[in-house]
Amino acid sequence: MYDIIIIGGGTAGLSAAIYGARAGKEVLVLEQKNYGGQIINSPEIENYPGIKRISGFEFATGLYEQAIGLGACYEREKVVKIEDKNTVKLVVTEKKEYEARAVILATGAKNRPLGLERENRLIGAGLSYCATCDGAFFRGREVAVVGGGNTALEDALFLSGYCKKVWLIHRRDTFRGEGTKLQMLQEKENVELILNTVVKELRGDTKLEGIVLENTATGEVSEKEVSGLFVAIGQMPDNGAFADLVTIDEMGYIRASEDCRTKTAGIFTAGDCRTKTVRQLATAAADGAVAGLAACEYISGIL
Ligand code: NAP
Repeated sequence: MYDIIIIGGGTAGLSAAIYGARAGKEVLVLEQKNYGGQIINSPEIENYPGIKRISGFEFATGLYEQAIGLGACYEREKVVKIEDKNTVKLVVTEKKEYEARAVILATGAKNRPLGLERENRLIGAGLSYCATCDGAFFRGREVAVVGGGNTALEDALFLSGYCKKVWLIHRRDTFRGEGTKLQMLQEKENVELILNTVVKELRGDTKLEGIVLENTATGEVSEKEVSGLFVAIGQMPDNGAFADLVTIDEMGYIRASEDCRTKTAGIFTAGDCRTKTVRQLATAAADGAVAGLAACEYISGIL
């Protein structure tokens, strides 16, 4: 029997693990992939208070090592169901079942697909959602990045160091991402911005050969021959497995306010998977602290 099971090993989940373990609780983190969540792919973080500059990998590894060093356990398993047995929660994974007094849902969000035909088939064959993971495969080649947020700007900057040419395609004429990143991109000779444009079609059956673009202002259709397409159009939550225990909003996020409590006693939520206005590293870590301490307080109340 664990005190707290945390589902998700990203910034929110590992922060909750640090707070739970430091409070002397038996903590288990269940994560279906590697630890770190979304931030592990960020080449550089410059907006986490107190740390001037750090890579996402270094940041996530620091969090993981801190949580484990404080006594938290970590298993790489996918959770498929949670059953509420009042003061005990049964957490069912693809491999095993675990019991805990409290559960923190810190499932983050997964990459949003473009929703195009052949998109799934071309993943790993020219199409990628992670420039830092796959960028090096496109050294000296021509690639495109889709999106207008910080991830897309960072991906384009990162790829400009490897690739012969990078087209950054955004559906509007202004970017959601930071001005400083955009300015750095505009200074790169091998980067070109394509605005008011969407990717309409993917060319190639077994590997990506090109993309068909449509200008949203003029309706003009054009084609670019690229060997890589990096999709960076944000994330979406994946909370369907917990829909009977928490309230999920129309976008798929778990409804909870700043106290990180859900409608089920003993089930908390933290980070990007919950309803919130600002989804940043600092707010994910803050949520982890709040949910971790709230779970400890809840456990004291039921023992
Ligand atoms: P995001 O900020 O939500 O941006 C998603 C972008 O994709 C937007 O520009 C959006 O266009 C576009 N988009 C969405 N759906 C689309 C579709 N179907 N077709 C074409 N374009 C589409 O996502 P993100 O860049 O992944 O960032 C997520 C959060 O993490 C943000 O808060 C970001 O600041 C943060 N982040 C921080 C860092 C850092 O500080 N180092 C790095 C990466 C991310 P519109 O603008 O038109 O809506």
